[in-house]
Amino acid sequence: MSEFFSTQNRARFIEQMCQKPLDLLVIGGGITGAGIALDAVTRGMRTGLLEMQDFAAGTSSRSTKLIHGGLRYLKQLEIKLVAETGRERKIVYENGPHITKAEPMLLPLVKDGSLSKWSASLGLAVYDWLAKVPVSERRRMLSVEETKTMEPLLDNSSLIGGAHYYEYRTDDARLTIEVLKEAVDRGGRAVNYMKVIDFLYKDKKIAGVVVEDQLTNDKHEIYAQVIVNATGPWVDTLDVLNDTTKGEKLYLTKGVHIVVAQSRLPIRQALYFDTPDGRMVFAIPRAGKTYIGTTDTPYKGETAHPHMTNEDLTYLLNAVNHIFPSVQLVASDVESHWVGLRPLIRQTGKGPSEISRKDEIFQYESGLISIAGGKLTGYRKMAERIVNLVAIRLRQKEGRKFTACQTHNLPVSGGNVGGSTGFENFVKEKMQQGVLLGLTAGESEKLVRMYGSNVGQVFSYLQNWKVESAAYGLTPVLFAQLQYALNHEMVVTPADFFIRRTGALYFHIDWVRNWETVVWTYLMNELKWSKEKAIEYRQQMRELIQEAEGEALVKNTK
Ligand SMILES: Cc1cc2nc3c(=O)[nH]c(=O)nc-3n(C[C@H](O)[C@H](O)[C@H](O)COP(=O)(O)OP(=O)(O)OC[C@H]3O[C@@H](n4cnc5c(N)ncnc54)[C@H](O)[C@@H]3O)c2cc1C
Repeated sequence: MSEFFSTQNRARFIEQMCQKPLDLLVIGGGITGAGIALDAVTRGMRTGLLEMQDFAAGTSSRSTKLIHGGLRYLKQLEIKLVAETGRERKIVYENGPHITKAEPMLLPLVKDGSLSKWSASLGLAVYDWLAKVPVSERRRMLSVEETKTMEPLLDNSSLIGGAHYYEYRTDDARLTIEVLKEAVDRGGRAVNYMKVIDFLYKDKKIAGVVVEDQLTNDKHEIYAQVIVNATGPWVDTLDVLNDTTKGEKLYLTKGVHIVVAQSRLPIRQALYFDTPDGRMVFAIPRAGKTYIGTTDTPYKGETAHPHMTNEDLTYLLNAVNHIFPSVQLVASDVESHWVGLRPLIRQTGKGPSEISRKDEIFQYESGLISIAGGKLTGYRKMAERIVNLVAIRLRQKEGRKFTACQTHNLPVSGGNVGGSTGFENFVKEKMQQGVLLGLTAGESEKLVRMYGSNVGQVFSYLQNWKVESAAYGLTPVLFAQLQYALNHEMVVTPADFFIRRTGALYFHIDWVRNWETVVWTYLMNELKWSKEKAIEYRQQMRELIQEAEGEALVKNTK
């Protein structure tokens, strides 16, 4: 019987990892590390994972949130990358239909744009072929009239046609959490707010790490046969800690997304469109909002906290206003935003948008294995490659044999819903349960779609709602979500809940403003924070809200 991935179990998980050497220790709790942990656990390796912030707090909560093959990489002839990530789309979808959704995409073609009718048609046909796209989702070329009917907001004067194709949309942070939960449920151990600050060696070979608990400042030693550095934009930092003679491998680029009310940019479906400077960006409707992104500029600043500048904001507003001239978005329309860093592998002489998005594995004399680059979409294949290597190392060291990769047909946590074809029936059936427990149909459906096959557990907390939440004034839904986050998703701070467990800071910032005090009070009591911690977390949440609003920038550019 596995132990819950609960905040209460955090100290016990640490203790278990310290007790005896692991087979594999993964550093970094973004999608790359989570995928590696799940793959390793399913092959029978004793696996632990350490994350210095919250899970997915790095790049894996700051992406465009698409599971996609990357159509534009075809222009760079990245055939292998497009084929692999294109095919992975369907696997990620099937293994977690509650966390991934098919997203019809419109590609408007404009005069002097980056794609002609001919090149778009050919490119998308190649994309369909490489990604083995099912017939129902293959590309359809559109006339000007058809394109205009599909998206009346488009500028008539420059339109020469369009193309319709499919991508998939996800919630990147929740995908990461679902993968990790599955790994923990199968016996793996993962702990957030645990920073690796040093490596330990035996006969010049890496044997363990010194890790500092960011909540208590306690230091621990954790040993493992194999250690993998999956720290995304921080890969160089840890590699240098291991071997100071190694230079930088990464080239970080910054990507900004802005969120506006859908009423301010009422597009009928997602679009992928040309920017005036020859790049392309997405505009994607979601939960009553539309988000737009992304930028792609070199980044040199602080890794944990990249910021949006006035230039970033102006660039995205101009891109929208160029393709939808009747809309004229202004800075004050922006309700929220997020900023991420791409951990790209350095390629001399190439600009940000030209650098390959493929992943690369680095092996050091000490035995450390590092992985960087890649995409959210390809996380499962990246994990397979790494764990194949780990299996070879373990065989060489101890003569143990492990099976081949097991994750192709393995639902992630919450994904046992009968595959993509069974999901809608699953939603209907489970929705009734929520309604019988007193939720509205809308509330119930929202929870079923968000938690998939774990929703029964979420619903079970509704029974205690009246007694336990009376003092706080929590709604039944919020109470059940908080309980679930505490008991099954290791939530530590209000920011973990509002950003990475619910995505609310980006897509429902008003709701966050309404509930932040109540949630803070509830978590403070449940987790018995010290006075200092309580003040720190309150301040942190307030700053995050202000930052997401981009208040200073909005004022400056109005
Ligand atoms: C703007 C943008 C848009 C994108 N859009 C898409 C998209 O739509 N689709 C797609 O497929 N991909 C997309 N990507 C790429 C994708 O998001 C990344 O490839 C992926 O999230 C990287 O995950 P990761 O786990 O390698 O890194 P991260 O998510 O950054 O995880 C690394 C983790 O390591 C932790 N860490 C660092 N140092 C230590 C330490 N000393 N001890 C313990 N932990 C440590 C960090 O806190 C961090 O959480 C996008 C990227 C960006 C920036």
